[in-house]
Amino acid sequence: MPEYQPQRVVIAGGGTAGWISAAALSRKFGDLLDITLVESEAIGTVGVGEATIPPMRVFHKLIGIDEQAFMRATSATFKLGISFENWGQIGERYLHSFGKTGRETWLAEFVHFWLRAQELGMAEGFGDYCLEHEAALQNRFATSPSSKVNFAYHLDATRYAAFLRELSEAAGVKRVEGKIDEVVLDSESGDINALKLDNGELIPGDLFIDCTGFRALLIEEALHAGYDNWQHWLPCDSATVVQTQLTGEPKPYTRSIAHEAGWRWQIPLQHRMGNGLVYASQFMDEASAKAKLLEDVEGAPCSEPRTLRFVTGCRKAQWKKNCVSLGLASGFIEPLESTSIHLVIMGITRLMQMFPFDGIRASTRDEFNAQSRLELEKIRDFIVLHYHQTQRNDTPFWDYCRNMDIPESLAHRMALFRDSAKAFQKDGELFRVDSWTQVMLGQGLVPERYHPSANIMQPEEMRTFFEGMRKQVVDAVAQLPQHGQFIQRYCASDHTR
Ligand SMILES: Cc1cc2nc3c(=O)[nH]c(=O)nc-3n(C[C@H](O)[C@H](O)[C@H](O)COP(=O)(O)OP(=O)(O)OC[C@H]3O[C@@H](n4cnc5c(N)ncnc54)[C@H](O)[C@@H]3O)c2cc1C
Repeated sequence: MPEYQPQRVVIAGGGTAGWISAAALSRKFGDLLDITLVESEAIGTVGVGEATIPPMRVFHKLIGIDEQAFMRATSATFKLGISFENWGQIGERYLHSFGKTGRETWLAEFVHFWLRAQELGMAEGFGDYCLEHEAALQNRFATSPSSKVNFAYHLDATRYAAFLRELSEAAGVKRVEGKIDEVVLDSESGDINALKLDNGELIPGDLFIDCTGFRALLIEEALHAGYDNWQHWLPCDSATVVQTQLTGEPKPYTRSIAHEAGWRWQIPLQHRMGNGLVYASQFMDEASAKAKLLEDVEGAPCSEPRTLRFVTGCRKAQWKKNCVSLGLASGFIEPLESTSIHLVIMGITRLMQMFPFDGIRASTRDEFNAQSRLELEKIRDFIVLHYHQTQRNDTPFWDYCRNMDIPESLAHRMALFRDSAKAFQKDGELFRVDSWTQVMLGQGLVPERYHPSANIMQPEEMRTFFEGMRKQVVDAVAQLPQHGQFIQRYCASDHTR
C-alpha cells in the first residue's frame, strides 16, 4: 500500500454545522484525516435550529450516535410532524405528519381513493388514516427497535453542538479557540492556504469547510461564490426569538402559527419551550414583532427576546476552490419545515461520499454543486407552496404571497395536483408524495378529479376498506403511552433549566 498522507481538513465555525461535520468526518474517516475546528466563543453561535426531520435518525445511526444518550444530553422530545394553524384560512389547522397515510395501489395513490370516499360520504379527514398524525394529536408516542413509527426530534441547539463536540474531540478532532481575522489565499491558484487568527496563529489546510454561519467568511468574503436571493418568493427576513417555561406536557409536534406578516413557531423541549416570530420586515417592524411574540407566547419568558436577520436564498456554488460551505454559510431557505440541519447532514454526507482523498477535481465539485442545488430548489418549492397557496386576504403580506409569481417547477406541481390529484417525488427530492399531498390539501388546493381506478371499488367495499384502515390507526394509537410518560422512561434529561 502506498503511504497515505492524511489530508488536513479545517472546519471554520463550531455551531451545529461545524460540529455535525466534525463528528461525521472524525467518526467515519478517523486516521485518514487530520481535522481541526476553529471557533470563537466571543462570537458565539446562532443558537436556534431546534426542530428536525426524520432522516436525522439515519445519520445518527450511520455515525454511531446512541439515541437515548443524545436525547438526554440535548433535552430532546419527539416530533411526529408540524401543526400548521391559520395558514390556509384563519381558524383552520392541518398537521403535516411524518407518517404514511392510508394505502395506495400500483395505479393510484391513497388520495384518489380518499377523494372518492369523501364524495360518497364515507371518509373522515385525510390525516385520520395515518398513525403518526393521530398519535400527535392525542399526544401519544413510543418507539422500539421494531416500531415503524416515523419521527424526528426537538432538541436544544446549544447542547447538541456541545454533545457533538465531545464525540468529535474523543475521535481526534483538534479544537482551536480564536477569531479568524484573515483567510489566506494562494496567489496563483486562488485556493485557501490557511486561516489566520487574531493572535497571529496560522491554521493551514488542504480542504476547508466554511461553517461560519451568516458571515460566510470563507465561501463569500474570501472566495466570492455569489448568492441567489429568493426573497421575492420567500419574503420573511427576520425572526424574533425567546425561550419560555413549559406550561404543560411537551407535545410531540412543532406548532407553526401564521400571523398577519409571517408565522410563529413553538418547539417543546423537556425543560423549556423555544419560540420565534418569523416575519417580513417590509410588512412588520421589529418593535411590533417583539410585542406580538411576548403577547402570544404561552409560558413566562426565561430569556431576553432577540432578533435575527436573514436573506433567503443560497450560494451560487456550495463548493468553490478548496472550500465547501455548510449550514447558514451555504444559504438559508427559512425554518418553516425544519430543513436546515437536514441540509447540513446531507451536505456532509455527500462530501464524504465524494471525498477528494487524492485531490480536488472539477468534476467532483461540479457534481456536488449540481446535487446540492437540485435538493435546495425542491425544498424551496415546498416552502413557497405554504405561503402562496392560501385563501388569506386579511393583510398586505398575505395579498403579496397569494399574488406573487412562483417558480415554474412549483406551478407545474400545483397544476398537476389540481388537475389530477397527482403528486410526485423525484430522485434527489426530500419531500415525499405524502408530504406534498398533506400540504396541498391542508392549504386548500382541491383536486378537480381523481384517478378513475378509485371508481372500480364498489361503495360497500370502499366503506369496509376505509373503516378497516381507520380501526387499525385507532387501535394502534390506543396502545401508545403519553408522550411525556415515554420521555420520562426512555430519555429523561438531568437538565431542569
Ligand atoms: C430564525 C431561525 C430559525 C431556525 N430554525 C431551525 C429549525 O427549526 N430547524 C433547523 O434544522 N434549522 C433551523 N435553523 C437553521 C439552523 O439554526 C442552522 O442551520 C444551524 O444552527 C447551523 O448554523 P451554523 O452552524 O451554520 O451557524 P452558527 O450557529 O451561526 O455558527 C457559526 C460558527 O462560526 C463561528 N464563527 C463565525 N465567525 C467567526 C470568526 N471570525 N472566527 C471564528 N469563528 C467564527 C461562530 O463562533 C460559530 O461557532 C434556523 C435558523 C434561523 C435563523
